[in-house]
Amino acid sequence: MSSSLPRITEIRSIGLGRGWSAETGDNAGSTGGTTSANNSDTLVEVHTDAGIVGYGSCYTTKDLVDGALHFLRPMFIGEVAIEPERVSEKMHQSTYWQGRGGSITHTVSGIDIALWDILGKYTGQPVGRLLGGRYRDRIKPYGSLIFDEPGKLRAKLQEAMARGFKAFKMGWGPFGRVSDEMDELMVSTARETVGDECELMVDAGGSEQFWPHGLKWALRTADMLSDYGVVWFEEALPPDDIDGFRQLRLGSSILISTGEVLTRRQSFIPWLESGAVDLIQPDCTKVGGLSEARRIGWMAYDHNILMVPHGWNTAIGLAADLQLVSAMPRARWVEYITPAPLIDDIVATPFKLDEEGYLTIPDSPGLGIELDPEGVKKQAI
Ligand SMILES: [Mg+2]
Repeated sequence: MSSSLPRITEIRSIGLGRGWSAETGDNAGSTGGTTSANNSDTLVEVHTDAGIVGYGSCYTTKDLVDGALHFLRPMFIGEVAIEPERVSEKMHQSTYWQGRGGSITHTVSGIDIALWDILGKYTGQPVGRLLGGRYRDRIKPYGSLIFDEPGKLRAKLQEAMARGFKAFKMGWGPFGRVSDEMDELMVSTARETVGDECELMVDAGGSEQFWPHGLKWALRTADMLSDYGVVWFEEALPPDDIDGFRQLRLGSSILISTGEVLTRRQSFIPWLESGAVDLIQPDCTKVGGLSEARRIGWMAYDHNILMVPHGWNTAIGLAADLQLVSAMPRARWVEYITPAPLIDDIVATPFKLDEEGYLTIPDSPGLGIELDPEGVKKQAI
């Protein structure tokens, strides 16, 4: 390898707080009031001897990222900074015994995204082109928000509509946790609020601790959602219940999705091969970065299953998702939390929806966004 290639000199972490702690207050309470809701995302800043800095995002806490960085350090210091797939694969394959699939994989995810950002900045190309080529230059984001009692839910949806969203996903909160009647009331309120032209999606949040529902509830609820033209039903079952999802997919007239808690491309294989879902939702800040998400996207494509990136994370995560979907033959949506201080308040130029409710996918070098250092400082823990 040529010594003139840019090399990694340091990786720093920035823990972010207050991002979705307010939005998930109820859920944090229902999972025993853990503090993870106060620091669920951590940025990584990868420095090189060429002066290029790349940014990544990890879906876990700063303490865990710091522990993983300490362990991974001998594997990345001095490494070529413009070979994301090889460097990430080396870290995956060298950590079989140290939290493979857990915090280490989450941390590799952020490093991998940052290395793609560096490769893009080094070559002057948007990451999507380097991932294989741009099939599209815009995509529809869905505004992602937490379910609430009808009055508050209506207000949240109206706020998201005012921002220009034309598709909305509601998740967690009271849904599936109070009664069938309450579930239907929230969904009917939402449909009435957004009208028939907008897309509505529902996320039960079955990856909550000790999710109580099984296949019969999921089938019954999918029927109700179908009456309101809901596009997909997400995490209706616990995240390990592959066979339950497979049966639910067969019995439901609306699309069935899951995948946000899975990590590593290999974990997705049985879901795709058994046809357990219509849509698969890997999170690039968790699965192993863009290198891994790209391969999951292609495996899904080859099984005629649509990848819709899970994006309950940060501006860096959203920027990575935009580049990812630009390079996929089929793509329809990306997730965009609303309101989202960890997306909207840490970038120099805010993401802006056009009149049709789409986001333009940046074609500037790297991830195509610039962080606002003051904004990052305000959100840092
Ligand atoms: Mg979800």
